[in-house]
Parts: sequence; C-alpha cells; structure tokens
Amino acid sequence: MPASVALKLLGWVSNTPMKKTLSWFDIDFEYGGNADVTSLNNMGFPGEDFFITDQRGYWTLFSDFYKSFQDKILLNKTVSQISYSDEGVTVVTTGGEIFTADYTLSTFSSGVLGSGSVKFDPPLPEWKKEAIFRMRPVYFTKIFLKFPRDFWDDHEWIMHASQKEGQFPTFYDLDRPGFFPGSTILFTTVTGDEARRVEAQDDRKTMEEVMEVLRKMYGPNIPNATEIHVSKWSQNPFVRASWTDPVVGTSWGHFDNMAGRLNNLFFAGESTSSDWYGFVQGGYFTGRDKANEIASCIKGGKCESYEPGTELIYSQRASRMNACRMKVVIFTCTFLSVISGLNIR
Ligand SMILES: Cc1cc2nc3c(=O)[nH]c(=O)nc-3n(C[C@H](O)[C@H](O)[C@H](O)COP(=O)(O)OP(=O)(O)OC[C@H]3O[C@@H](n4cnc5c(N)ncnc54)[C@H](O)[C@@H]3O)c2cc1C
Repeated sequence: MPASVALKLLGWVSNTPMKKTLSWFDIDFEYGGNADVTSLNNMGFPGEDFFITDQRGYWTLFSDFYKSFQDKILLNKTVSQISYSDEGVTVVTTGGEIFTADYTLSTFSSGVLGSGSVKFDPPLPEWKKEAIFRMRPVYFTKIFLKFPRDFWDDHEWIMHASQKEGQFPTFYDLDRPGFFPGSTILFTTVTGDEARRVEAQDDRKTMEEVMEVLRKMYGPNIPNATEIHVSKWSQNPFVRASWTDPVVGTSWGHFDNMAGRLNNLFFAGESTSSDWYGFVQGGYFTGRDKANEIASCIKGGKCESYEPGTELIYSQRASRMNACRMKVVIFTCTFLSVISGLNIR
C-alpha cells in the first residue's frame, strides 16, 4: 500500500509545517518520492545512512577492478540501437559504428530504457516494458551553496518547517569537523516534482529561492551565497533520474522480468536488483552476477533462457484488458463529443 495510506491508518496527518517537514524527511528524503507514490513495502533499510566525503569520488572504489581491462573500455560512444537473437547481439551507435557479440549485457538505467532513446529490434516485449515502467525514476537534487561566512546554527542538520511541503526542507552543514571545516558550504535537497522544477531552471533563480528561505530563517542581514552547484541527473540523457523505486504493487516477479534476458541480451544495473535497487551495490552485484552467467554460457556451462512468471502473464492480461477498456472509453467519449460538439479533456 502507499505510505500515505499507512500513515493515515496510524493516525498521522501532515497538517502542520513541522509535521510536513518530518514526513518529508522520513519518506521523500529517504525514498525520493512522496508518501502517495512510495510503497510501504519498500520502506526500511538494512543498515544506517552514512555521508561519505571522499574527495576522490565514488569511482575510486572501483578503479582497481577495471585497470586490467581498461584498454577494452570504449568511452564517448552513444548506443542508439540493439538487435538481439539467439545467435548474437548487434549494437549500433549514433556515430554509425556497429559492434557484434555473441552475448551483450545492458546496464542502462530504467529511465534510459523507458525513454525509448535506444531502439530494440525486435521491440521489447510487453512484460519487459511493464517491468521497466514500474521502476519509477526518482528525482533527488542536491544543491550546494558557498557563503562568504557562516551564519547558521551549529547542527549537522538544520530543518526548515514550511507550509509549502518540500520547499528546501533541510540544510546540511558541511562546515563541520569530520566534513569540510572552514568551507562555509551548506547543502539542501529537493525531491520529486520540486527536484525536476529546480533542475530545469537557471541556477541563479534557484539561488534566489534558497536565499529567500534562509532569510526567513536567519533574518535579512545574512550574506548572499557566492557560488552554487546543482546536481541535474534528470537532465542528463544518459541517466534521466537519480535512481529507481518500484511503484506500489510491484512484485518480485516484476524484478525477475526487469533482469530477465532476451535471447542473448542480458540486463543488469541497480533497477534490476530486487535486494538493492536504488543503490550502487545493486549495480555492482547484478553486473557481477550477469557477467558470470554470460561467462558460463560462453564456456558451454549452465545457460538458462528466461520465461516471465505466470503471475506476470496475469498482470499482462489485466493490463491489456484495462488498456482495451480505456480505448473503449476514449472511443465512446470521442464519439459522444463528435455528436454533441463537446470538448473532452
Ligand atoms: C543525488 C544522488 C544520490 C545518491 N545516493 C546514493 C547513496 O547514498 N547510496 C547509493 O548506494 N546510491 C546512491 N545513488 C544511486 C546510485 O548512484 C545509482 O543507483 C547507481 O549509480 C546506479 O548504477 P547503474 O550502473 O545501475 O546505472 P548508471 O550509473 O545509470 O549507469 C548506466 C551507464 O549507462 C550509460 N548509458 C546510458 N545510456 C547510454 C547510451 N545510449 N549509450 C551508451 N551508454 C549509455 C550511462 O552513461 C552510464 O554510464 C544516488 C544517486 C544520486 C543521483
């Protein structure tokens, strides 16, 4: 069920600025979506959150893995088409280059797969498309602001309670021991529709909006920020979101379908992991496992094909019936609008 339903059953109503902020912090900030779109089923993490501040970046964790085959990695190639069969896979790039292989592993994000920017031949079957569309793209935007001096409270987290839900609800103080003392940097986060709005607009406008909120909190005499950095993953055509979170009603079977191979084309990546979707380790573990499966196929070992589960066949039938019903309704409405001259929206 949606988290919003569970909250209401528990008697929680987000009807004050404080409650709105608390609900945002526990749900939107953790899961990247509001209580209506976040499934109660997906809530709860095995472990704690840690904030990592390694200046070298996350990539250094993996740098040892790829050194032995670094020369085989081709960068700056954009895949536009993938043809697959039991005989092999052909990958075409926007530059017109053609690569063929017996087996191929796709690790595109669900956002990229769902966008249609890569054409598949034959087209992806319905069960695969349903699984992709169930992996809801999460929009989660970090906004870093540098100031000439600090003026804020001496707390790691500074909460902003507002009547308008999701309007820069938290500020994180990076100017602290253990982080970057002396940096005079604060960062704030926005999620969901607010994240998409902020990512699409000019950073100067975002800076003004954040300053307006900070002035409400700390008064009119605080200094303006001098620099801003806004992460813009939703605008990146190769990522299109921050990570994925399955929609309410998604089952393990849909994850199986997300990860299920199509002939000699395999799938890995965060959104194919039922255990670790949304996390880097989801990408790592699924990539490793699928690479092992492909190695087994190449060596003549176990190499099972994939059949979507019966539960999903039911779900496909149901969705087809609903689609059919919708078509009937639309047809009926259009028909009625034609004869009566009404505008149907
Ligand atoms: C703001 C933010 C905070 C996050 N916080 C955390 C966190 O705290 N902990 C955590 O574990 N995870 C976190 N994540 C999520 C994590 O970054 C992702 O889950 C992870 O990067 C997914 O890895 P992936 O390999 O599955 O997909 P991706 O990283 O999306 O890799 C897919 C690759 O495919 C490439 N590609 C796409 N389209 C094409 C094309 N047409 N042709 C060629 N190449 C293409 C892309 O360039 C990319 O390199 C966060 C993400 C964001 C944005």
